[in-house]
Amino acid sequence: MKDIIIRKSFPFVFGMRCCMRFKATGVKTAVMGFLAALTLGNAAQAASEVVVYSARAEQLIKPLFDQYTKETGTKITFITDAEGPLIARLEAEGARTPADMMITVDAGNLWIAAEKNLFRPIESKVLEDAVPAQFQDSKNRWFGLSLRARTIVYSTERVKPAELSTYEDLADKKWDGRLCLRTSKKVYNQSLVATLIERHGEAKTEQIVKGWVDNLATDVFANDTALIEAIAAGQCDVGIVNTYYFGRLEQEKGKLPAKLFWPNQNTTGVHVNVSGAGVTTHAKHPEEAQKLLEWLAKGQAQRIFAAINMEYPVNENTKWDPIVEAWGEFKADELNVEVAGKRQVEAVKLMDRAGYL
Ligand code: FE
Repeated sequence: MKDIIIRKSFPFVFGMRCCMRFKATGVKTAVMGFLAALTLGNAAQAASEVVVYSARAEQLIKPLFDQYTKETGTKITFITDAEGPLIARLEAEGARTPADMMITVDAGNLWIAAEKNLFRPIESKVLEDAVPAQFQDSKNRWFGLSLRARTIVYSTERVKPAELSTYEDLADKKWDGRLCLRTSKKVYNQSLVATLIERHGEAKTEQIVKGWVDNLATDVFANDTALIEAIAAGQCDVGIVNTYYFGRLEQEKGKLPAKLFWPNQNTTGVHVNVSGAGVTTHAKHPEEAQKLLEWLAKGQAQRIFAAINMEYPVNENTKWDPIVEAWGEFKADELNVEVAGKRQVEAVKLMDRAGYL
């Protein structure tokens, strides 16, 4: 990089000397000024750059990054991949990593990355004001940027909402042969079960999960979208999904014979998780990365970050997307989302014992 700059600058400097030989002093000043500007330019360029590793899909982050670059001049370079490979990559790269920030979904993943010391703690009043304590790491190593509700979806043709009540109730015999679930390998379900363990303890949670498995109408699904389609097609009557998958499918296919239901409204509330980010331990541009994180957590950027995926903004001062708003308000679980990480191993083992594939 340095070589290229030197080669580029020399012909220019010599060219100036040749043509302005009668103003030697002026030339000297000009040359020095030029070199100084070049140095400053390099420094500014080095500082105003952020490298992001993102498990959030390109179409969900690029419009925001483009806007940030337009507003601040800071260049953002990013790669996207699944969370597992990104975390492994950060670990393998260690101090050599070019990544300043990692964005990923689910508190379970953020927690794992923090436990592997991949994030650095951040002291930021902006982030403390923008992100409720429930949705950030207690050691400030990561912050939620959007919220996703994992809720019940039901067939409007075969289920009356009055029959529904809680996640726990889906283990009841009345749902025998009527329940659809996504695979237990997905972190979303591991996080949900982790919160059940926190609330009920292992023995009772295992009973609940076994009840779910006994009630299954079909094999587990690879993703939430296939599950909602199965309900619409009459394969099963109820299931558990993240709301944005329902929103996306209705946007794509039009109105479905299915609806979202907010469970546990008289008890613990709807399970809510985050999509969030942290500044990496070995960031080369930590201040710039923090500024980007702060920018994402408030104002118009915060609204877009959530709305673009039909999620809920983490910042309570932010307006909801109209489609999301139409699903109605609900009482959310108040547990700190860190529980999803802390109890993830227990949850995985429990689901295995319960025969939840
Ligand atoms: Fe998702």
